[in-house]
Amino acid sequence: MANNEDLFKKIISHAKEYGFVFPSSEIYDGLSAVYDYGQYGSELKKNIRDYWWKSMVQFNENIVGIDAAIFMHPTVWKASGHVDAFNDPLIDNKDSKKRYRADVLVEEYLAKIEDKINKEVEKASKRFGDAFNKEQYLTTNPRVVEYKTKMDTVSHRLYSSLEKNDLVAVKELIEELEIVCPVSGSRNWTEVRQFNLMFATQMGSTAEGADTIFLRPETAQGIFVNFLNVMKTGRMKIPFGIAQTGKAFRNEIVARQFIFRMREFEQMEMQYFIKPGNEMEWYHYWKEKRLNWHLSLGIPREKYRFHDHEKLAHYANAAADIEFEFPFGFKELEGIHSRTDFDLGAHQKFSGKKLQYFDPETNESYVPYVVETSIGLDRTFLAVLSYAYNEEKLEDGSERVVLKIPPMLAPIKIAVMPLVKKDGLAEKAREIMDSLKIDYMCQYDEKDAIGRRYRRQDAIGTPYAVTVDYDTMKDNTVTIRERDSMLQVRIPIERISEIVRERLKPVV
Ligand code: ATP
Repeated sequence: MANNEDLFKKIISHAKEYGFVFPSSEIYDGLSAVYDYGQYGSELKKNIRDYWWKSMVQFNENIVGIDAAIFMHPTVWKASGHVDAFNDPLIDNKDSKKRYRADVLVEEYLAKIEDKINKEVEKASKRFGDAFNKEQYLTTNPRVVEYKTKMDTVSHRLYSSLEKNDLVAVKELIEELEIVCPVSGSRNWTEVRQFNLMFATQMGSTAEGADTIFLRPETAQGIFVNFLNVMKTGRMKIPFGIAQTGKAFRNEIVARQFIFRMREFEQMEMQYFIKPGNEMEWYHYWKEKRLNWHLSLGIPREKYRFHDHEKLAHYANAAADIEFEFPFGFKELEGIHSRTDFDLGAHQKFSGKKLQYFDPETNESYVPYVVETSIGLDRTFLAVLSYAYNEEKLEDGSERVVLKIPPMLAPIKIAVMPLVKKDGLAEKAREIMDSLKIDYMCQYDEKDAIGRRYRRQDAIGTPYAVTVDYDTMKDNTVTIRERDSMLQVRIPIERISEIVRERLKPVV
């Protein structure tokens, strides 16, 4: 298999070639960090969103969903802290004129040290074979211990400087570590400055009377400002949750890595309202529950890991990321945050409205605490796509590219194909297609040799292909071919639906 950078490039071009993801406004040379989803991409994206919604709202009787507007009252973003604190520290290289996130430069430096540790571990495990004890090696090998100490010191300095908003110290750290610009190779850096990530626009018909409003940088605030409405109209009892999916906008400084970091993206968020004091219990509960959701897609456990935050956002008292191993390494896919009463407390203060829950058992009112789960839909799409992309050498010496997309998320579930167009086979295949498409997204294909048609379906991740041949005309059976094993079996037409349905269940 190609190296990871090559692999990532192949995934990006496959996504474009097969109608999953296109650069935005491509005929005008694209728009940086903005992408469009094509005919298969939008299906995959919708299926991920639907599965999330089902897992959150349909499967949990105490979680309901809403759909708030993207535009919100400007004071929302004052209260939430975004106007004052939704900043990234940026730094420019004076030679290449390239702009970077200062914290990311240091994090990349840390990732390089981590790579070195991993290489040492790999070497040692080869050398010691079965007798190798990884834990012991990590804590006793002098070189590894030195690397680890260095990582701890650097990350502590980075996060404590950021916490104190001490940008001079961040710059000093970059200089001390002799971090160079990957483009110019020089260390000719500007000062570190804060940059607000919100997009602003005007609302109102005349320029003078217009109000500056923001495109929401997260969907969460739409939930907080509707807390009272939902609680009252839904007669919700704590603990309860409100879920929402929708677009969010961030003027990201470094927008690279395809749909991993976009300026317009989609989030799937759930805010769980709880009694103060119970937050750690619920935080751990949601951490585990969300990891299990990822595993239910059938993607192996080793592709995921937790990263507990050292640097906490201004609103959190505990936070962790679920990271996924993308082709460019382990990176954040979802965040689970214990947000205390920060948001409701702030909106209560700024709006002057009481945002409290009356507990009928204790006869007391309080501002609930919140545990949030926040996942990027586009990042999940990228995780699924990069896991699914496989290049395989077949027994007959040929090669195929197959997307092993979890069947329940696949854009097309069944391809229906007549072996040849004549002798009534096409009409028979159409008939089967018409009955299956009521329940499943299907595709009819009668063009080219059957082998080429299978390859086309493999390339878009269709789990099943059904072929109509001359025997079908006699006994109403078809050949059904499974994508991953490529096994073909003969079954009666009435069984197609049941076989497919079985495969579309989550892996528990
Ligand atoms: P990062 O550190 O990568 O910028 P974040 O910690 O700012 O992410 P959150 O504010 O916690 O992200 O947002 C929740 C989720 O939204 C993230 O886990 C990610 O999946 C998604 N997300 C955030 N920013 C982007 C973006 N620019 N493009 C695509 N998805 C994003």
